[in-house]
Amino acid sequence: MSAHTFKANNPALKSFVEVKKDSDFPIQNLPFGIFSTSSDSTQDARVGVRIGAFVVDLAELSELNLLNDLDFDHSVFYENVLNPFIELGQTNWRATREKVSELLQIGSDLEKQLKDKNDKVLFPIEEVTMHMPVQVGDYTDFYSSIEHATNVGKMFRPDGDALLPNWKHIPVGYHGRASSIVVSGTDIHRPKGQIKPNDADSPIFSPCRLLDFELEMAFIVGKSTSLGDSVSIEEAENHIFGMVVFNDWSARDIQKWEYVPLGPFLGKSFASSISPWVVMLDALEPFRVASPEQDPKVLDYLKYTKKHNFNINLEVDLIPQNEEATTISKSNFKYLYWNMAQQLTHHTVNGCNINVGDMCASGTISGKDENSYGSMLELSWGGKKTLTLKNGEERKFIQDNDTIVMRGFCQNENVRIGFGEVSGKILPAK
Ligand code: CA
Repeated sequence: MSAHTFKANNPALKSFVEVKKDSDFPIQNLPFGIFSTSSDSTQDARVGVRIGAFVVDLAELSELNLLNDLDFDHSVFYENVLNPFIELGQTNWRATREKVSELLQIGSDLEKQLKDKNDKVLFPIEEVTMHMPVQVGDYTDFYSSIEHATNVGKMFRPDGDALLPNWKHIPVGYHGRASSIVVSGTDIHRPKGQIKPNDADSPIFSPCRLLDFELEMAFIVGKSTSLGDSVSIEEAENHIFGMVVFNDWSARDIQKWEYVPLGPFLGKSFASSISPWVVMLDALEPFRVASPEQDPKVLDYLKYTKKHNFNINLEVDLIPQNEEATTISKSNFKYLYWNMAQQLTHHTVNGCNINVGDMCASGTISGKDENSYGSMLELSWGGKKTLTLKNGEERKFIQDNDTIVMRGFCQNENVRIGFGEVSGKILPAK
């Protein structure tokens, strides 16, 4: 489906809600999330849509009979995760985004109603708490950036080929830990574990000394499959609800000691952080781009003909305690060698079933030049180089009380569609 077929994507649309020019959330975006008003407990968390600096309460819109066109049980808007709403299927997500778009346009029924009465439909973003948008059943992390895989290969296996022989044939991935995926703003304690310092003969137990972020994005599965079924590459995007920015926190010293032969375990499973607003793939349509050419040719089940990549600018800030932010990386989702359709197709080719709410992360998204590397491991080249921050402090890896902020946004001459940010602060080990 092309961009113009979604009325809600029309760049000419204007909302009666003020949206600043540099906002990630114009009326053409309308991402979904779970919020509660500050006086509420998480029991009162419910479904909201973001516009400008406001959250639109979908449960309240339903109460006001403004969503009567939506022909499904509106109890999904009172749930504290998006899963039941997503379960309703692509036709209903699309209808909901289109209906909310109509209601937010100048001259809408909602604008008239808000003038007449003092209904509490719009909440300033600073007055709400954002929660995990979905219950994540399973989480898979891919490794789809050729620049990142090459950089890590050079550092971890200096004497061999940077890329392993399978890398250009398989979207490499591993099964991660769903329970420790947290929403932006959640503090993370420095993990502890087994590390083996270079000068030691045997491992020691220690707080991680080489703590890192990984700049990633993740998609959220929107349509389940049955055990034994596979999703074709043509169908794959119909199984995706939307995307978030994803920080895959990584303990490099724990990872290095444990990862052979079965891959990452405790070096990754202590936490991953996500941005709270799920941007529907539909909203990203104007920013579709071709992927890098794949050579050698991939097997038939991974071959694709359409554009499956998106031009999404990504940035990482490091903020020492009580200091200003330094932007330490600028990358782009479009650099990824393997696209989401290939990832999902490969994931299910063996008959593995997927469920609504499952999360699939891209792997660290690095670009070609040194300022576009998506991890401290690469930015400091394994600790051999030093990053200098705006306040003169230096970093090779993340220190206690540092905050990492990642942002994602698409921008063309007509519209900016963004994800907001995912932020997380590292506290000392417990
Ligand atoms: Ca990762």
